[in-house]
Amino acid sequence: MSNIRHALTVKREDDFAKWYQEVISAADLAEESGVRGCMVIKPWGYGIWERVQRLMDDRIKQAGVQNTYFPIFIPLANFEREAAHVEGFAKEMAVVTHHRLIADGKGGLIPDPEAKLEEPLVVRPTSETIIGDAMSRWVQSWRDLPLLLNQWGNVVRWEMRTRMFLRTSEFLWQEGHTAHATREDALEETHRALEMYRACVEEDLALPVIAGEKPENERFPGADETWSIEAMMQDGKALQAGTSHYLGTNFAKAASIQYQDREGTQQYCHTTSWGTSTRLVGGLVMTHGDDDGLRVPPRVAPHQVIILPILRDKPEDEALLAYCEELRAGLVAHSALGEPVRVLLDKTPGKASAKRWDWVRRGAPVILEVGPRDMENGKVAAIRRDTLWNAETGKLATEFVLRDEFVSGIGALLEDIQGSLFSEASERRDANITRGVTEWDEVVQFYKSNGKYPGWVEVQWSKPTSEALEKVVERLKAEKLTIRNVPRGSDAADGACIFTGEPAVERILVARAY
Ligand code: AMP
Repeated sequence: MSNIRHALTVKREDDFAKWYQEVISAADLAEESGVRGCMVIKPWGYGIWERVQRLMDDRIKQAGVQNTYFPIFIPLANFEREAAHVEGFAKEMAVVTHHRLIADGKGGLIPDPEAKLEEPLVVRPTSETIIGDAMSRWVQSWRDLPLLLNQWGNVVRWEMRTRMFLRTSEFLWQEGHTAHATREDALEETHRALEMYRACVEEDLALPVIAGEKPENERFPGADETWSIEAMMQDGKALQAGTSHYLGTNFAKAASIQYQDREGTQQYCHTTSWGTSTRLVGGLVMTHGDDDGLRVPPRVAPHQVIILPILRDKPEDEALLAYCEELRAGLVAHSALGEPVRVLLDKTPGKASAKRWDWVRRGAPVILEVGPRDMENGKVAAIRRDTLWNAETGKLATEFVLRDEFVSGIGALLEDIQGSLFSEASERRDANITRGVTEWDEVVQFYKSNGKYPGWVEVQWSKPTSEALEKVVERLKAEKLTIRNVPRGSDAADGACIFTGEPAVERILVARAY
């Protein structure tokens, strides 16, 4: 293995944070914008996000949820109506106070004091309050329920510690907002959305997740219940990959979302909200990336197969290009993972080997090189990005396959890559969850002695609330730990709470997190 010369300069095991930065730029995903915490998403990175968007949107629509669009500016007063909500978001809201600039007399511009807005406008950090306003108009009777809405857009949360994709000040996302007649209906929707996220993230992005309920201290501001899916990154840290909230009647009361029930009585609606963001692209990198760059699972790869003709700037090139074009046409006529195969014939000038490494770093699932000799033999030289190297020889694990065989096998090949990436990540995740720890000191010791990438620990607790919970959170914080969630169906607790010694009621996952 040691004679392999990897495509990146930083290895995961040496410096995971630096490695992540290098993948983001080497895979051509995004770059810093000059505005702290805001990024420029480049075509390959945006292409991956568009695939995630498309697949998630299909699932959202299958559930009967309709897309809408609401303004990016929200009157401050909307927030003030829900106390917990505004308190939670106040620290990170960007606010527009003026609508015009004037010269400052020194060659610069300043906000015009004459153009001060009567009421400040918040750049949306999330849209419960403005969509709640509309819901109060759109819902009158039980016949209008459930009201199932979703919005794709951007939001701004003034984050202090930012990292590309994972935590940015502006991010792209979808936010679902629904209103229901009863608590049961709203809870059912909360779980439907959570399950939709689990399915999309596991099946499409090949990221294994654990779905469960967040503890009280991690709830969305204004929510009665917050549920999440948690993914494990290769450094053993957790990433909250999506959240689904049951908001009770809190927002309905704040925005007066009421309906007349069948008996003619006015009732408050029960609402939910749920979101996933461009953070998923960061999760993809930290889960599937390796020391040669990114590995994109076929379902979310903008191009699944790259054809690289080895051109020589000679008349023979024409025949080679015709051969490659035929190959491309053959491939796109096939389906893989339920969609037509996405193929790029890369005719850009440059050495084929340099182009090959560009696509390796970007993580295209399959790279085909075709030279004059391959054409003569009716073959292609195929590289699978997920299993790039032959460990014995230290060389690329290139396979020479008959063109027609390759074309007819493309569906099975892409399916296999999708499945392999998921299995690899699942096995790693499962191997890095430690169970059966019963003493707090053991947890502390575990994180001290398990090197750089210790993974997660599952413990039992008595589900303390308010002050007792605060103390637990402080103890965790001292070790840089957080409670990720209470995995769904975790009611098999039988010992003592690791924090209070009282009888345990459920299991929780403890981890360092992004
Ligand atoms: P929330 O509305 O707080 O429940 O957020 C919904 C989802 O958006 C979270 O589960 C995260 O996956 C994602 N998210 C939250 N904050 C950020 C951020 N600063 N940058 C990127 N994604 C975020």
